[in-house]
This record gives sequence, structure tokens and C-alpha cells, in this order.
Amino acid sequence: MAQKPIPVNTPLLDGNELKYVTECIETGWISSEGPFISKFEEKFSTYIGSKYGIAVSNGSAALDIAIKALRIGPGDEVIMPAFTIISPAQAVVTAGATPVLIESDPITWNMNVAEIEAKITPRTKAILVVHIYGLPVDMDPVLDLAKQYGLKVIEDAAEMHGQTYKGKMVGSLGDISIFSFYPNKHITTGEGGMVLTNDLELAERCKKLRNLCFEPNGPRFIHYEIGWNYRMTNLQAALGLAQLERIEQFIEKKRAMGKRYQKELAFIADQDFQLPLAETSYAENIYWVFGLVGPSEEAKNKMVAHLTKNQIGTRPFFWCIHEQPVFQQMGLFKDEHYPVAEKLARNGFYVPSGLGLDETDLTIVSQTMREYGG
Ligand SMILES: *Cc1c(COP(=O)(O)O)cnc(C)c1O
Repeated sequence: MAQKPIPVNTPLLDGNELKYVTECIETGWISSEGPFISKFEEKFSTYIGSKYGIAVSNGSAALDIAIKALRIGPGDEVIMPAFTIISPAQAVVTAGATPVLIESDPITWNMNVAEIEAKITPRTKAILVVHIYGLPVDMDPVLDLAKQYGLKVIEDAAEMHGQTYKGKMVGSLGDISIFSFYPNKHITTGEGGMVLTNDLELAERCKKLRNLCFEPNGPRFIHYEIGWNYRMTNLQAALGLAQLERIEQFIEKKRAMGKRYQKELAFIADQDFQLPLAETSYAENIYWVFGLVGPSEEAKNKMVAHLTKNQIGTRPFFWCIHEQPVFQQMGLFKDEHYPVAEKLARNGFYVPSGLGLDETDLTIVSQTMREYGG
């Protein structure tokens, strides 16, 4: 059946986005000096429940800043999941520190927190949790370990806007957290990110790091440290502010889409495809994306090919950190294996999950998957 292509993501920009961006252009405030930046920082940090928000150019930049703000560097180890996007690992490696990887939980797809303690050494500086795809990491055991061993907790909450852990906002639980506002996230600024913390000194350090390490009170153009230009523009913050006005609606829509997929794709369990876990004792899935894990790489490839042929967009799951050629070339993670994470990376993919999808799109995706014989 011929139909229009269904992309894996389409953002929704039909609120005050145009109005606020127009305001930037009409007033000439387009750089990071504009008034939407502090408004967006204030509103978003308040929403999450953190004292300070530092808006930056993207989520990966936010991770770089978080690592540097905590003064993590050569000789330090940071515990993090083997199954994640490269950004958190890259931030650790480029700071000169070493990622120490944790196997995944096969059901939640997050790192298995029971395996953390065995990996703590005298060099461990922090635990970097990455909340994956829709469910948060089980944070209480992580926070207990951090307290016991004197470690910092960094939350990569890039996929978790508005998600809660035991009723508390994800991204407000650690010492420092980051969000991304890439177009496939719950709210978008085109490109963008934010660092959040309750610690004033850390917040001041983040502000400095995003702005080339200009000294806030020193003579201008004299630098004592290397930073980056990781500033967000007023145009981006204008978009973000308009998006934030509707975040509850967006989350509701994502959850409704997730629930609908769960129902309509339930049949696929008979073909040994695994659906996302709907809820745990500590959280209800927010369905950042709707992922599936096939019984084999071959079965996944066949399903993806069938969807592609029918113009339905898909994305593979993340590729494991220990299997990244760039890290292997650096001599990292030699002979390390994490079978659960490797299986997720090979057999996992996700179907169209963007906020711009309508009911018909979802029906077509489900029907097309139903037509696949295996
Ligand atoms: C999207 C994402 C990032 C990176 O954010 P960008 O804004 O694309 O740099 C980091 N971590 C996770 C878990 C993500 O999903």
C-alpha cells in the first residue's frame, strides 16, 4: 500500500515558537546575550527542581562542562554504562579520565546498578548514570554508593525531561545533571542543552566553562584556564521557552503513543521481539523513543528492511562504548565484554516516536509490522 513516508522523528513547533523567535529578530537580540536565555534557564531549572540552570549549545557540550566542572581529569575513573550514546564517554575521555563500564539490565536497558560496587577503585571519582530511552536508572542504590564511597553523581538526563523517579524529578537527583534539546527530545531548541545543579560554586564554574573561561571578575581577555564557546543563542532559548510551555502535553502525548504501541504491537512477543518495559516499581515509562529488541540481529535486520521498504523510518539502538573503534584504537576496553549490552546494540531498533506523529501514522506503523511474516 502506497503511503507518505513516516519519519522516525518530527518535532511539534506549533505553539509560541514563531512568536518568540520573531521577537528575537525584531529586537535584534539573537546572540547568547539576549533575554530569553536567563528566562529559559530559570523556567527549566525550576521545572526540574534544581537551583541553577546553565544553557549551552547542546547536550554533549553540557556533558563536557559537567565533567570539567567537577575537575575530573587524568588518573580519574568514571563509572558509566557500556550501552549508551558516545557523548558521556567522549566527555570523560577528552577530559583525560577513564570510563569504567557497567553491563546493562536486559529488561530496563539501563545499567545494572548491582554491578557498580565491584567496579569502584581508589581512582573512582564519579558515577555517571545515563537514563536510557524512557525509564530512569534505579537511583537509590547509586546515591547510597556515592555517599558511602564519597563519589559524585552525574545524571545524563538527555532523554528524560519530566520523568520522575519515586515521584522526584529525574535530573534533580545527583550532584550535577544535563539535558539535551535536540529535535528528537521531549522539548527542543534545534540544538541545545542545559547543565543543572544545586551547588552555586559548580554553577559558577559551568558558566565560566561555557564561555571560554573568561574570568567573571578579572580583566577581560585574560584567561587562566581552557574553556569552550558552548553558549546557547537567544533564538534557541526562545524556541525552548515556547516548547517548555507545553511540556506536560508533550509528555502525555509520548506516553499515550507508547501505550498505544504496547497494545498494538503486543503480538510481536510471539515472534520473540521484546517490547519496552511499561513500568517499574519506581517509574512509569516516558517513551522517549519506542524501542524493540529482536531475537537475533538477522530478525531485526529483516524487520527494519520491511519497514524501510514501506517508507517507515527506524533507528538502530546505540552501539556499545567498549566496541567503539575510536576507543579501541586508543587501547581502551581491551578484551572487555558486556553480552547484554552487546545484544541490545545488535538486536535493538526503534520505530517512529516523534511528537509530530498522528493516530494514522501509528496505525500504519503497527499494521506494517503486523504484515511482516518473519
Ligand atoms: C541526545 C543525547 C545526548 C546528546 O545530546 P546532543 O544535544 O545531541 O549533543 C547525550 N546523552 C544522551 C543519553 C542522549 O540521548
